[in-house]
Amino acid sequence: MTRSEPSYEALTETTAIALAKTLELFNADADLICHEIGDGNLNMVFRITEPAAKRGIIIKQALPYVRVIGEGWPLTLNRAVIESEALRHFAQHVPQYVPEIYYTDPTYAITVMEDLSHLTIVRTGLASGSTYPLLSTHIGEFLAKTLFATSDFAMEPQNKRELALQFHNPELCKITENFVFTYPLFDHETNDVEPLLRPIAEQIWGDQVLLLEAAKLKQTFITHAEALLHGDLHTGSIFASDEETKVIDPEFAFYGPIGFDIGLFIANTLLSALAREESGRDALLFHITNVWDIFVDTFSTLWQQHNVEDFAPIQGYLEYQLQHIFEDAVGFAGSEIMRRIFGLAHARDIEAIVEDNHRLIVKRNAAALGRDFIVNRSLYQNPVQLVQALQQVV
Ligand code: ADP
Ligand code: MG
Ligand code: MG
Ligand code: MG
Repeated sequence: MTRSEPSYEALTETTAIALAKTLELFNADADLICHEIGDGNLNMVFRITEPAAKRGIIIKQALPYVRVIGEGWPLTLNRAVIESEALRHFAQHVPQYVPEIYYTDPTYAITVMEDLSHLTIVRTGLASGSTYPLLSTHIGEFLAKTLFATSDFAMEPQNKRELALQFHNPELCKITENFVFTYPLFDHETNDVEPLLRPIAEQIWGDQVLLLEAAKLKQTFITHAEALLHGDLHTGSIFASDEETKVIDPEFAFYGPIGFDIGLFIANTLLSALAREESGRDALLFHITNVWDIFVDTFSTLWQQHNVEDFAPIQGYLEYQLQHIFEDAVGFAGSEIMRRIFGLAHARDIEAIVEDNHRLIVKRNAAALGRDFIVNRSLYQNPVQLVQALQQVV
């Protein structure tokens, strides 16, 4: 190794500006402002703007550890490469739904991308009453196109396996395996259970029927390499306005079960709906039925036009696959709900409910739904039934 070989360094607001100029993303003499705006758990996000030109860029950098924990929890820098590569891959199929990527540097674990600051993070917008009328139409299309294109229905298995190797992402998958699928269902030290909720948590942790079904779902997550997933598609990974939708933050991308991304979107939308007054709920419940309807329409069209599998035309095969994807999605939605109620990372709009009794009821209702989705996932045939289940518990 030569002494001049570059090595990783965490950016500061000053070095981030220098980098933007080196990359010639701005004129050398431009007056630039930089702020670190990251609000996620894992990474640094620098926004660099040239006020005079009303232009900005984003530099996202992975740290060699988990941002909110610190150096005590090391985490692979390769997640930045996975994120960049996944965004580039998605752009081949749905460029309208991802930020443009300007530059990637594996050594510095950096992705330089389009500034989406004219949009709002959906989780934040939903909590303040926005509804984003096109959200589920866009996300349904995003899901169907990215998931179909990377599945065995669109790719020769040989090529799919090669792509899967590129998205080998064991450290990030392990976080999901632990923090979504496992810890929330045991009395684990990383859980965050408020005292009033403790009796309900203890029921959950002792529920053998639930634990068996949850174990099966975790195994499905680990073993079913069906398509290239986003892997972290909660409402904090989506920017939107009333017209536009952009998916960010696919550092958890890997080959997994198609229902996982769908289930995460449904669960987080449903939790926002539960946190709302009844009058504001319908606009969000619409997204739960619509995301699935759009997914099915788009996936079915792609299946008819582009399926490379010899069995594709066989009567009932598409319907079988859709039913299987839906069942997984319902179960994964249940796992995600449990994680947001009992685990480490909660649903902010539920936590924001000030009145103890009201907040407790919302959490209890969410837990009842989460349990039902996990245990009874095979009984659900369509998303209208999910909405009905919600309406029965509230
Ligand atoms: P993490 O992996 O740490 O969760 P995210 O990719 O979710 O990081 O980004 C954290 C925050 O940074 C987002 O919630 C958003 O506020 C901001 N951000 C990320 N990407 C962009 C972007 N392309 N344009 C504008 N803001 C962004
Ligand atoms: Mg994030
Ligand atoms: Mg992230
Ligand atoms: Mg069934």
